[in-house]
Amino acid sequence: MDKRRLFSTYRVLIAVSILSAILRRDPHEMEFIQSVQEVVHSLEPVLTKYPQYVHVLERLVEPERVVIFKVSWVDDKGEAHVNRGFRVQFNQALGPYKGGLRFHPTVNLSVMKFLAFEQTLKNSLSSLSLGGGKGGSDFNPKGKSENEIMRFCYSFMEELYRHIGPNQVPIFDTPSGDIGVGPREIGYLFGQYRRLTSQYEGMLGPKGIQWGTSNLHPEATGYGVVYYAKEVLTDLHRDLKDLRCVVSGAGKVALYAVEKLISFGAVPVTISDTRGYLLDEEGFDRVKLSLIREIKAHNKNLREYTKSYPKAKYLDDTKPWAVKCDIAFPCATQNELNHADAMSLINVGCQIIIEGANMPCTAEAIDIFRKSKIWFGPGKAANAGGVAIQGLEMAQNSSRVQWTAEEVDMRLQEVMKDIYQKSMKAAQEYGIGNPEALLHGANIASFLRVAQAMLEQGCV
Ligand code: NDP
Repeated sequence: MDKRRLFSTYRVLIAVSILSAILRRDPHEMEFIQSVQEVVHSLEPVLTKYPQYVHVLERLVEPERVVIFKVSWVDDKGEAHVNRGFRVQFNQALGPYKGGLRFHPTVNLSVMKFLAFEQTLKNSLSSLSLGGGKGGSDFNPKGKSENEIMRFCYSFMEELYRHIGPNQVPIFDTPSGDIGVGPREIGYLFGQYRRLTSQYEGMLGPKGIQWGTSNLHPEATGYGVVYYAKEVLTDLHRDLKDLRCVVSGAGKVALYAVEKLISFGAVPVTISDTRGYLLDEEGFDRVKLSLIREIKAHNKNLREYTKSYPKAKYLDDTKPWAVKCDIAFPCATQNELNHADAMSLINVGCQIIIEGANMPCTAEAIDIFRKSKIWFGPGKAANAGGVAIQGLEMAQNSSRVQWTAEEVDMRLQEVMKDIYQKSMKAAQEYGIGNPEALLHGANIASFLRVAQAMLEQGCV
């Protein structure tokens, strides 16, 4: 057998052995397996070149600690309910565990582990001294009253506070928001944490601007996604101006991405939610975006928009991936863009996909993009702006200063540029060309930093 074939056989064997160990241990954790599979595939050339990393990878894919707890709460009618709470403290080799809290009925251990694993690599890529974690609950905040949400958050924190906080080294854990958790929930969680611990630490975000959040924290993920897209376009000698953009989701990430696209002169034509999608062929502008925010804030149907803009269309129970576009930004949730959706995007001429959500594209969809030579920016790189600003927020809180929005924005742009360049450099070093460079480069660069720290810390 020649040397190249031998290497490739070796790579496949490593990948198979690591994945089969996970499958044996946790066969039902489909999301977690999917996210590990993608990374292991990217790392094949690294593991061939540096076999010492094989054992590091085996240790990396096992979370350091998983906390699962009961959350009992009482609704407005006096009826008792019970939900399940999670905190996955995945890896602390680079610094304190950091990663959001998600409240959504689909939350389970597999989802938590995949998000925490992605977060570990994302935090590594963002060059901050932060480890990775994730938490949440299968509680559904939709349709609940303010008081019910407050009671749930209090009950959730009553257990979580035992596992987080700056004085509990090594369980130094700093949660923030994700799906179903925004400033309101963080406010209640923080209030309860402060009451239980008598500590006022900058550890939950984004809070109210008056009490410890950084300027631009709420916007950072969505803005960062667009800054990342801009880097891709610059390399392609193109500009965002006048490009048609299809965006999914209508939450924190999606709407701030739309806002930034508008400011760059791009033409975002869709947003979507769990009920369907909204298409405005003329593109959204700031006034239209305010209306969308108003509709979502009142939990109304996006169809409402068409009353003010009758030329716009609203489609029930449909995803926006068959709408003609230059760039697509999936910003809603995991696995929202599958094989058939990827084919639709290619058929309508889409040339670039930038993930705003965590793992919104299935493995089959990514394979279609690869075969069609579509540029694909993975979430762990493109949506790292939020955690990057949280890292900066911790620095501001501990030194009791607040940087201006302009200063934070400038730093955010630098972080996104750095993430892009680091991914490209890592891909080049391993001979991986475009358009796959962004995906594999991000996985390689992020892994190498955590892996090196783990190697230096011994077998922990
Ligand atoms: P939000 O809860 O603010 O918004 C989520 C949006 O996606 C909502 O509009 C929701 O619809 C829609 N959505 C959720 N599930 C589905 C589904 N199955 N089908 C269609 N639409 C769906 O969450 P975020 O914007 O905070 O998060 C979005 C994604 O970005 C997640 O993957 C998250 O992990 C990731 N992310 C978030 C960060 C943050 O700082 N918030 C940081 C990095 C990544 P509806 O309005 O009907 O509920």
